Amino acid sequence: MNAAVPAPLPQHAALPLDRRGRPLRDLRLSVIEACNFRCPYCMPADRVPDDYGFDAATRLSFDEIETLVRGFAQLGVHKLRITGGEPLLRKGLPTLIERLSRIAGLDDIALTTNGSLLAAQARALREAGLGRITVSLDAMDPARFREMSGGRGDIVQVLAGIEAARAAGFASIKINCVVERGINDDQVLPLVSHFRGTGHVVRFIEFMDVGTCNDWSRDRVVPSAELRDRIAARWPLRALEANYRGEVASRYAFEDGQGEVGFVSSVSEPFCGDCHRARVSADGRLYTCLFAGDGHDLRPALSQGVDALREHAAGVWTERADRYSEVRGAANASRRHVEMFLIGG
Ligand code: SAM
Ligand code: SF4
Ligand code: SF4
Repeated sequence: MNAAVPAPLPQHAALPLDRRGRPLRDLRLSVIEACNFRCPYCMPADRVPDDYGFDAATRLSFDEIETLVRGFAQLGVHKLRITGGEPLLRKGLPTLIERLSRIAGLDDIALTTNGSLLAAQARALREAGLGRITVSLDAMDPARFREMSGGRGDIVQVLAGIEAARAAGFASIKINCVVERGINDDQVLPLVSHFRGTGHVVRFIEFMDVGTCNDWSRDRVVPSAELRDRIAARWPLRALEANYRGEVASRYAFEDGQGEVGFVSSVSEPFCGDCHRARVSADGRLYTCLFAGDGHDLRPALSQGVDALREHAAGVWTERADRYSEVRGAANASRRHVEMFLIGG
């Protein structure tokens, strides 16, 4: 990877800031909107059935994705996260990652996956230049895990995927767990117990009102502070400094040296002020917030090449004023949200 090589910038161009003075640093790129799971908090099977009508023809090609990422790197993006839907369903993903890993200015390429197909692909992804992996895992109990995946997932496969990733050289894997009160909050201690001491880091994510399908209610959110206290009562914790400004998870180390856990608290402790993330859906729409109603179609600019794409995306970013999590519930908070499976978290 070309970590030391700065992205070539057009002459005299300044990196864009949005209307709240936030630079563009991270890009979350969905490579596919389809998924082999139906997690009820994201893509419930009764709302998104198997014949929902996903169309592979709408997806950006690898050539288009490479141009797009090159343009975003020139605007200041240095971290790229590949997501979906389930990104490991996208054919030839290692080939794409290999192409993206050569883009100047990108110093971190990560992937978020449900892990079900990871065992077979971990080595190829590593060899292609993927830097980090996050695996979503909402329960340790096999039956509960299956329920949390909408009746599709097998925890044995996911754990085998995590092990294959470790064996392929991914050092510290992040394990993301969305916690819903009364649904899987009893799985928090078993998850911590399983991964403590392995070098992998479990991160608990507050159930969010993303999309339109999950019948969100605040009653089902378990605030991170409550989870942290529950964990600390069993395994004492000490707060860690953020690795960098704008880090999404707050981090805690186990006092006994057995690793760390993280908490993503976008409901109880919004972090919009440091939000440097853009999201692009598999069909090439740019979303400036996880809770945006609409995306900006990048395809027309993309068809004209990297310069046009970069100028267009910069224009969108400079108009950005999003801070949904800070105004959640207020009269001016939009009720229309893009689906999570279209932009991938
Ligand atoms: N399919 C992949 C996976 O599950 O890891 C990648 C896409 S998925 C949309 C990305 C992340 O969003 C997952 O970690 C998932 O748990 C999280 N997510 C989905 N719906 C959520 C919700 N309502 N609240 C909080 N996190 C959510
Ligand atoms: Fe699929 Fe990930 Fe959504 Fe679950 S969270 S339904 S695995 S896209
Ligand atoms: Fe960023 Fe929107 Fe989330 Fe705020 S609500 S942190 S602006 S994605």
